[in-house]
Order: sequence, then C-alpha cells, then structure tokens
Amino acid sequence: MNTQPTSPCFSFDLTARDRRARAGIFHTPHGDIQTPVFAPVGTQATVKSLTPAQLAELHASLILSNTYHLYLRPGDELVAEMGGLHRFMNWDRPILTDSGGYQVFSLEDSRKIDDDGVTFKSHVDGSIHRFTPEKSIAIQENLGADIIMAFDECASPYDREYSIKAMQRTHAWAERCLQAKHRPEQALFGIIQGGIFPDLRQESARYIGSLGFPGHAIGGLSVGETKAEMHSMLELVDTLLPDDRPRYLMGVGTPEDLINGVLRGVDIFDCVLPTRLARHNAALTRQNRMNLVNAAYAHDPRPIDEQCACYTCQNFSRAYLRHLITAKEMLAATLLSIHNLYTLINLTQGLRQAILEHNLEQFVTDFLQQRQLKPQEGEPEA
Ligand SMILES: [Zn+2]
Repeated sequence: MNTQPTSPCFSFDLTARDRRARAGIFHTPHGDIQTPVFAPVGTQATVKSLTPAQLAELHASLILSNTYHLYLRPGDELVAEMGGLHRFMNWDRPILTDSGGYQVFSLEDSRKIDDDGVTFKSHVDGSIHRFTPEKSIAIQENLGADIIMAFDECASPYDREYSIKAMQRTHAWAERCLQAKHRPEQALFGIIQGGIFPDLRQESARYIGSLGFPGHAIGGLSVGETKAEMHSMLELVDTLLPDDRPRYLMGVGTPEDLINGVLRGVDIFDCVLPTRLARHNAALTRQNRMNLVNAAYAHDPRPIDEQCACYTCQNFSRAYLRHLITAKEMLAATLLSIHNLYTLINLTQGLRQAILEHNLEQFVTDFLQQRQLKPQEGEPEA
C-alpha cells in the first residue's frame, strides 16, 4: 500500500488491512519482520532451552531480550566488547530490547523513583544502581538491538492520580530518550501509558504519536486490568496512533490475546508464556492447555496435538514427553518450548495470511470455535 521511511535503516510497508487488522512488513538492518508477529522472549540473551538454529527453524523473525538483566549480568559493556547482542548470542535476525523500566519498577521494595530516573537494588547481588532515560538508551546502544524502547513508567492500571504522574514522566522521558539516541541502525519506539483511563490513554497516544517515533508500543496493559478494559484501551489508541508505523503490545501472548490484539490494529507481540509454560510441563493446544505430567498420558502414543506440524508433534508421543518430565530430563523443556512457540508463531502467520486474503473473520470464528471444544476423550483438564 505505502512505504514510509522512518529512518534510513527502517521502513514499514502496510501491505493489507481487514477492518482494523493490519498485515505489514517492518524492514530492519537484520532483515524483514512480517507482521503480525509474535516475538519469543530471550530474557538473558537466550530463549530458554532453545538454540538459535531451533528458533530459526520455528520461523521466529524477532526475539526480545531484557536490558535490566543484561545490564546486571554480564554487563552491556561486555556485550558490546563481544561485538553486540547479535554476535554474542549468535542470532542474525532482528532483536528488540526493552528499556529495563518494567523490571526496575517491579522491584517494589527496592527501588526509588523520581522525575529524573529510578534508583534500585540489584536482585543478583544487592548492589545499588540508577537508570535514567539517558542511561537506558546508552545500555541499549551497547547491546545493539534493532528495535530499542523508550524508558517509561508502568503504573498500577487503576490508580488515576498515580497514572497521571507516571504518564507525564513517561512523556518527558520519551523526549529525553529521543535526544539521547544516536545510532541510526536502531529504531527507538515510544511507549504509551495511561492505565485504564480513556482520557489519559488518548492524551498519551496523541502526545507519543506526535514525537516522530518509527514505531509505538502500548505499555501498561496485561498488568491486572480486565480483558474488556484492555480491549477498549487498544481500540482507543488504534484510532489515534500514526497508521504508517508498527504498533507493539508489550508482554501479551495468549492465543486469545493475540487474536484480540490483531483485531484492534496491533502488529507486534511478545510474551514469556510459551517458554514459561514449557518449563512447567504445560503445552498450549488449539483447544486450551495440557499438563503433560498428568498420569493419563503415561500410555498415550499420540502427539500433543495430532494436527500440529511442529517437530515435537511430528516425532514424539505424550507418553515420551511425560517420561522426560518425570525423569527430570532437560529435553522436556526444549520439546515443549518448540511446540508452544510453534503454536503462537503459526497462529500469527495464520492471522497474517487471513488478513492478506481478507478472510480474517472466518479464520477467527473457526479458531475460537475450536477453543470452545471440551478436552478430547481421555484428556484431563490441564
Ligand atoms: Zn506441536
């Protein structure tokens, strides 16, 4: 439809729309990201239990890594010395780093916020550190991801008075991040806050949307509000954000959340859910979730999902997976992570295809109908 260069190294083509849903391509120095896209999370410069080759086989096109964790260990300067995050972790496709803000603000008892930044105590060794917008950008420049995030404050979604304060800080910090950034081969995304308050969300979307960021993130959602509140906030900002830039819904990633986000104009998602569930012996299935530790699977020769084309389902039985879990074998987490990531990546690819074919409504209806199904015979509730 259109190509809008947002910096010499980045551009976003909005290829097709189906109502509010969008299919696009975000061009980055490490390759194209076809949207909608689900990004696996590699907190400590590794997507837990998977090699980069396995991620590539899963068609992961973007992965997320965490500034807070990498700053503390091994240190962003060490990553820079090793040639940057792509080389350090041997991932040559696009990477996104968060700003570190979310993790720091989550350290409720060991951080102090002021208008200039946040002082906090490391969860690793108790040492004291300080993040400011400038520091967050400097760390993210050392890490060298393709997409970097503005330093923002995520407040409790229902506290109006505090949400105003956090939003104002987020806006002031967004401008400081823009000033602090120098590397042209990184795209800095601005973040919208405002809790569940429509007027604040509108103000934030207008303000952040006016600053010229090459992409926008919707922060402060999926942090305790209802799904209906999340959806109405997404609908509000969808109409206000510049149409020609990608939109990223941070930290959201159940199959229903991906569908609801795509229907409301979201292009990029990330979530620890698929790999975290895998480490807790659970598989995401088309119907719901399945806990493979359950004794009912001990003699079950079927794969997790007979219709799934992932490596795990093509090669291994529920009985084998349950055996690995019971014997505490590491391969269990790997095989379940492969299946869970495949499920979400495949879902976003299906949504993209449906948008391109103007068939989204049918795709979503069919998918949600499957989710209504009761577990198959012999499958206990997860
Ligand atoms: Zn599978």
